[in-house]
Amino acid sequence: MMHATVPTVVSAEVVDALCAIVGKENVIYGDEELLVYECDAYTIEKQLPNVVVLPQTTGQVAAVVKLCAQHQLPIIPRGAGTSLSGTVLAVTGGVMITLSRMAKILEIDYRNRRALVEAGCVNAWITNAVKAQGLFYAPDPSSQSACTIGGNVATNSGGPHTLKLGVTTNHVLGFEMVMPDGEIIWFGTRPDGGEEVDGYDLRGAIIGCEGMFGVVTRVLVQLIRAPQMYKTMMGVFENVDDASRTVSDIIAAGMVPGAMEMMDQLITQAVEAAYHFGFPLDAGAVLIIELDGLAAGLDQQAERVIEICKKNKAREVRMAKTDQERMELWKCRKRAFGAIGRLSPNFLTQDGVVPRSKLPEMMRFIRACSEKHGLRIPNVFHAGDGNIHPLILYDEREPDQVRRALEAGHDILNMCIEMGGSATGEHGIGVEKIDFMAKQFTKEDLDAMRTLRRIFDPENRCNPHKMFPGSKRCADFAPRKQIAA
Ligand SMILES: Cc1cc2nc3c(=O)[nH]c(=O)nc-3n(C[C@H](O)[C@H](O)[C@H](O)COP(=O)(O)OP(=O)(O)OC[C@H]3O[C@@H](n4cnc5c(N)ncnc54)[C@H](O)[C@@H]3O)c2cc1C
Repeated sequence: MMHATVPTVVSAEVVDALCAIVGKENVIYGDEELLVYECDAYTIEKQLPNVVVLPQTTGQVAAVVKLCAQHQLPIIPRGAGTSLSGTVLAVTGGVMITLSRMAKILEIDYRNRRALVEAGCVNAWITNAVKAQGLFYAPDPSSQSACTIGGNVATNSGGPHTLKLGVTTNHVLGFEMVMPDGEIIWFGTRPDGGEEVDGYDLRGAIIGCEGMFGVVTRVLVQLIRAPQMYKTMMGVFENVDDASRTVSDIIAAGMVPGAMEMMDQLITQAVEAAYHFGFPLDAGAVLIIELDGLAAGLDQQAERVIEICKKNKAREVRMAKTDQERMELWKCRKRAFGAIGRLSPNFLTQDGVVPRSKLPEMMRFIRACSEKHGLRIPNVFHAGDGNIHPLILYDEREPDQVRRALEAGHDILNMCIEMGGSATGEHGIGVEKIDFMAKQFTKEDLDAMRTLRRIFDPENRCNPHKMFPGSKRCADFAPRKQIAA
């Protein structure tokens, strides 16, 4: 398999050709302007692309991709750059294709409950556009006010409501993708009304490919009816063990809440300081539990949940009294990462999965890790899915802290795998978790994945050096000149 192992050089002639395709105002190549694109929300590794292009049509994307194919240049598709695992890193440089100027909602088909959007459309815009009609787009990553549908497709994003409603693949019907040679292909259900296409589910195979199969340009999503009623409550616990047991007990009792999200004491304090919701500062853990569905029977379910919380020594269970209060609670949860700035200049977000029943043990392990590495690790996570997000606090100006943060992350993810879980729940592999692939998969599994990738991208030019063991890292490359004369 071919892989560029030297820094990419883009000639001035190619930059001129890119300008001719998308317009000069949609091409960025000055080192200072490129700084915005040196990393995603995984800020430990950084590398500048040579050029960033911001196309406005699928035709322009295809022309850019064809030009890159002619010149054997790596292409890196990018949405909003909120990835937390370095999936958007231009490891050897290359041409970054950013979809943020293709962000329109093209069509809403209320009759068939579908929306056709451009790949750069921000996730939350879809629900905002249809909520007056009682509909919504279900996958709701906590980054939904910034991240794009193209990025969601590429990482198969989940969110707090994944527990009941599933992830991106369960809500995307089809999409248009520019292949690495520039060909434009529609995968899955077409927007012109055609139902499921026959044959292999290539749509399903592409979702979660981390931008390594092509550039997604338009997406057909399904809209679902908003529940008749919500019951959203906040359980306050003395410690994370009691809160974790509550999560397992609720599922074991046969209920599937819309969401079950946990915040430990450190993050609760930071969130309260930032957003003033009224979280108890002395609570060991706060559990947000949301029930939704038909109004009939929801009160009884809520009573049963409260009973289970109390059995697990909840100090208090507070019910959101108004829709406004419910929205405020969710805003705090979804902006929790944003409150970390109060605690530390930098943080490394981990994204492991453990069986729900192992949550108490995992939380104890994270506390031990925090002590071992001398770094604080607050936790805010999708407890219902067993999808943990320890936030390892460090200061990037201190190399020793960076080293310890990485080690703590490795210890935690290794333990997730040992406990029968996974090193990623929703943030993907990117460059961050490459080392875990060989732990989670056999050589045969990895070969099969590589074979699939080669079918879409035989030259390995589309978002190279991600996911597979043996990939190069930024540190392997010396700084280089961005544009050759
Ligand atoms: C505060 C915060 C909270 C988060 N919460 C969640 C959460 O709850 N659930 C969750 O799943 N994730 C979460 N994330 C991670 C991240 O937001 C998601 O992975 C999201 O889907 C990335 O979308 P993006 O538009 O930012 O994509 P980017 O970060 O730009 O790209 C991500 C990947 O998608 C590829 N890509 C982007 N656009 C395209 C395209 N048009 N065609 C092909 N490939 C493309 C890129 O090459 C890259 O591999 C969170 C991140 C932050 C910072």
